[in-house]
Amino acid sequence: MKLKKMTYKTKSLCPECHKTIDAVVEEKDNKIFIKKTCKEHGDFEDLYYGDAKVFERFLKDKYDNTGLENPNTLSTNNCPHDCGLCNNHKSPTILGIIDVTNRCNQRCPVCFANSEACGYVYEPSLDQLRKMLRNLTNEKPVGCNAVMFSGGEPTMRKDLPDIIRMAKQMGFLYILIATNGIKISKDLSYITSLKNAGLDTVYLQFDGVTEEPYHTIRGFNALPTKLKVIENCRQMNFKQIVLVPTLIGGVNDKEAGDIVKFAVKNADVVRGVNFQPLSFAGRVDNKDLKKMRITQPDLMHLLEKQTEGQIGPDDFYSVPFVVPLNLFLERWHNKRLGRLSCHPACGSATYIYAEDEKITPITKFVDVNGFFDLMKQLTEDEEKNHSIWKVKAIAKIIKEIPELVDKAKMPKSMNITKLIINFLKGDAKAMEIFAEKSVMIGAMHFMDRYNFDCQRVQSCIVHYSTPDDRIIPFCSYNYIHRPIVEKKFSKPLNIES
Ligand code: SF4
Ligand code: SF4
Repeated sequence: MKLKKMTYKTKSLCPECHKTIDAVVEEKDNKIFIKKTCKEHGDFEDLYYGDAKVFERFLKDKYDNTGLENPNTLSTNNCPHDCGLCNNHKSPTILGIIDVTNRCNQRCPVCFANSEACGYVYEPSLDQLRKMLRNLTNEKPVGCNAVMFSGGEPTMRKDLPDIIRMAKQMGFLYILIATNGIKISKDLSYITSLKNAGLDTVYLQFDGVTEEPYHTIRGFNALPTKLKVIENCRQMNFKQIVLVPTLIGGVNDKEAGDIVKFAVKNADVVRGVNFQPLSFAGRVDNKDLKKMRITQPDLMHLLEKQTEGQIGPDDFYSVPFVVPLNLFLERWHNKRLGRLSCHPACGSATYIYAEDEKITPITKFVDVNGFFDLMKQLTEDEEKNHSIWKVKAIAKIIKEIPELVDKAKMPKSMNITKLIINFLKGDAKAMEIFAEKSVMIGAMHFMDRYNFDCQRVQSCIVHYSTPDDRIIPFCSYNYIHRPIVEKKFSKPLNIES
């Protein structure tokens, strides 16, 4: 059978019985759909990407990374049931996730991970956590050095600062917590205790700038809590907040632009917005699936409308688009580093430069494609001539970067050539100044039983570390493995930890 344009075959899962089944990702009416048939449970179709043009552009960025030299499991060709990471997995971990508890101080209808819903408490001990962290750093050829503590609600654990301190001492360079912010909002000194322990970033649940979406998504008006978190962080000089909206069609999609504007307004402490289109935790009927399903290109088009055209689909790039920069930096530092090699359909991002509360995507004044072509070229040059490569590379950067920048449109306070050279020299201060004025706008669409694509999960770079010495891709964990792992390592609900 000849495949249609923009079509590929993959494997998926039956939404009913979870068996791995054949699927096809294909174009229809300028959109991309995933279609699959289970012999027992019938046909399923779901919107996969709301704009075929964006999908086509992103697919060109696909990068086949090398997997782990020390996999934890052996594949039986039954992905994603063989996790992991198995010998077939194509990317080491870039961001490790560790659930430190499944207890929570909220009862969100959209949550897939709380103790009340499960009827048990999952809370690994410090010794277990140390082992889970070690399993991440021990990955070969490159150990993971970024970890996010999640849950449940990680701040429910009194020893969270100790856990963060332990991770720092073990060599993690970048430590995040995913939180609803309640505890940070109530206790001004709490964020300082986390920061002093080594916390780098607060990943803050943030579903909108009005109270409406919070009632639907969280069951109460959580907006004042979010505003208080931002105020407390500002007061305690903690400048690394990433806003994380769960985006749901018909619920808070109309606020996407305002969330970006809010981030720009608070750019002194907000480093980014990471939109997470809803992935369905359980079964959902077809009508609700269609109404609530929102894909990354849908978000990009919404942003275009809601920011009066200041930011739109052309400003976004797929996550693996930046691999040429990863490869260049590997040559520069002469060591293997992490590569953002997830499937191009998984995530997308752009940078906004925030000056005078104006939204200026970096794409408006930098030829981003030209910049990444230059990175590719410099990496190729190194292969030819190692000894004087760095000197030549600096000379090329000084000569060519100004040609890639539109000076008339560039924000007044920015000097991009100086920034890149200082970055290569390892001048952290220079990057801090850039970071303080830039806001990352990104999206990652986690998969669910309807849109699950095994090609995507096989290249996943966001992995849970679990107490049974496995490393499990995020989308596979939440859909398949979570209840099994948690039950195995849980205590009955009423036992105090
Ligand atoms: S998702 Fe990765 S680790 Fe899991 S079974 Fe598939 S290839 Fe193996
Ligand atoms: S977590 Fe899911 S969406 Fe993100 S990279 Fe992994 S497979 Fe892709």
